[in-house]
Amino acid sequence: MFRIGEGYDSHRLVEGRALRIACVEVPAAFGSLGHSDGDAAAHAVCDALLGSLALGDIGTHFPPGEQRWAGVDSRVFLREVSAMLEARSVRLLNVDVTVIIEKPRLAPHIAAMREALAEALGCSVEAVSVKAKSGEGLGPVGRGEAVEARAVALVEVLEPV
Ligand code: MG
Repeated sequence: MFRIGEGYDSHRLVEGRALRIACVEVPAAFGSLGHSDGDAAAHAVCDALLGSLALGDIGTHFPPGEQRWAGVDSRVFLREVSAMLEARSVRLLNVDVTVIIEKPRLAPHIAAMREALAEALGCSVEAVSVKAKSGEGLGPVGRGEAVEARAVALVEVLEPV
């Protein structure tokens, strides 16, 4: 049996924070504000995986009010969510992520992002797609005030209960 999940996240961009996207630190004069490391792409992937099994969302499992998630590396979330899938005999077939940010250009970092996500998810690089778009100057993303990420994941339930 196959199931599909969708994930979305956005974070405000501010000075004085690192810009973490898909588990890669991208050189920039600003970064994403968040209780954890503010990695919108990693969070969207988590939500896509959780959504595929109707297991709620990232806030359900890692409440932002909890001190233990303060500043945490989002790879922790990806690994925990992957473990939830594994515990249910669910295999990730592929995940496709789109990151929307006005600047900097992410093209030089796409390969590293795919590898980092695959490593955290325990899957092959071929199963992970990362695409980047600019905000075309429109809205909060276009003004450089925010980063957005969307993800879709397809999973296979190996042992339906
Ligand atoms: Mg988030």
